[in-house]
Amino acid sequence: TAMKVVRLSGEVWEIPVTEKSGMLVPARIYGTEAILRAMDTGVFEQVTNVACLPGISRYALCMPDGHWGYGFPIGGVAAFDVRSGIISPGGVGYDVNCGMRLIRTDLTLAEVQPKLDRLMTELFRRVPAGVGASGFVSMDRSSFNRVMTQGARWCIEQGYGWPRDLERMEHGGCLPGADPGNVSDHAVTRGMNQLGTLGSGNHYLEVQVVSNDRMFDPEVAATFGITGNDQIVVMVHCGSRGFGHQVASDYLKVFEKAMRRYGITVKDQQLACAPFLSEEGQNYFSAMNCAANTAFANRQVITHQIREAFAAVFGRSGEELGMELVYDVAHNIASVERYPEGDLVVHRKGATRALGPGSPDLPACYRSVGQPVICGGSMETGSYLLVGTTRAAEDTFGSTMHGSGRTMSRTQAKKSISGEQLQQQMKQRGILVKAVSMSGLAEEAGCAYKNISEVVESVERAGITKKVAELRPIGNIKG
Ligand code: 5GP
Ligand code: MN
Ligand code: MN
Repeated sequence: TAMKVVRLSGEVWEIPVTEKSGMLVPARIYGTEAILRAMDTGVFEQVTNVACLPGISRYALCMPDGHWGYGFPIGGVAAFDVRSGIISPGGVGYDVNCGMRLIRTDLTLAEVQPKLDRLMTELFRRVPAGVGASGFVSMDRSSFNRVMTQGARWCIEQGYGWPRDLERMEHGGCLPGADPGNVSDHAVTRGMNQLGTLGSGNHYLEVQVVSNDRMFDPEVAATFGITGNDQIVVMVHCGSRGFGHQVASDYLKVFEKAMRRYGITVKDQQLACAPFLSEEGQNYFSAMNCAANTAFANRQVITHQIREAFAAVFGRSGEELGMELVYDVAHNIASVERYPEGDLVVHRKGATRALGPGSPDLPACYRSVGQPVICGGSMETGSYLLVGTTRAAEDTFGSTMHGSGRTMSRTQAKKSISGEQLQQQMKQRGILVKAVSMSGLAEEAGCAYKNISEVVESVERAGITKKVAELRPIGNIKG
């Protein structure tokens, strides 16, 4: 990049306001030197464009897993003053409340290995995947309205999961201020029959193992129910499916007009936004909350299906198998949060909230250690469980990375390997993959992503998250 980048500390880099006309605050990128050097040049443009948006507070941020996205970079974090600032669908992303969930078990690798094939078949059958997949939950308009307003709570009432699951979710799995009146019929039609489905692309359901040599903080791990000793856990990555996508598309159109009305100019049309307190801003926020709640519900129904699949294969109930939810984190969302400068609308797009110890927003069971941060890596290399720090609240609006982040385009990835080849190679390395689309599988090859260890080292050294355990894949389901 031609822009001046100043190293603030080992893993924090700043682009001063003098580098682009209109920047209201500096831009900050997190990453080791290697991460920064390899960073997509689009990120520098995009994060400095975000720094020009009205009402932005302190700095526009990008996490080490950052790469080019729609308007805002994926990995982007930006906070706007509630009164003078904006809200932008591009800062949330098309897949509203895409997120990660981790479920623990009492099972070990030795117990699961002999039945892995059968387990993956059961999971594949019970958790529909693929672009247009529809779920098994029969739904009418009034039930869907309740999903929009109650989120995961609705699922528990219907018997999909356990009441205690709710406290182990960001916002308790239900965001307030979700009014279905702000959502289009088209969005509802697209989303209504998709509850309990994984979707396509990089959404996945992964069976993973935690070995003793990959436990970094056994004490915090134990609080999260992670014991090591080749323990089996399950990670789920998915969001609000067609519903959230339609909500985003609908409001991007509304916001293009609204910007003219409010006299807001942006560096890139994809940054379309409206004042947070304007009618348009509030309507989008409400619709976004509806979509976020359907995503919590989606992951909850999938959790129920996972427990049922394990129960069918191992002949013991989910409860007997100790299949507690560790946590559910959103990584595409905007929420109003209190900071020393006042109430801010924090946009996290491909970034995870990371509350430190003592935060009142944490469930009692985790309050002394901090929030579990669930971070994807790739289906070949591994993923991480981390924990939030008080430093994150001070430095990054309580945020950290959400994955390793793409380095190779989908087209490039498909050219480098075929899905069939990849599946075969992974099988030889002890990872069983089931995929709806073989070309879709090739797009997700491990080589298409940054080195997860380098990304994790970046946030660890910057002090905004701490490693708890690494999770190695043994089975994966892809859309
Ligand atoms: P995104 O939310 O931006 O779509 O991607 C989330 C992250 O998940 C990616 O940055 C990548 O690190 C990770 N990821 C993608 N596919 C897989 C997978 O199959 N397994 C695991 N463990 N991680 C994945
Ligand atoms: Mn998603
Ligand atoms: Mn995601």
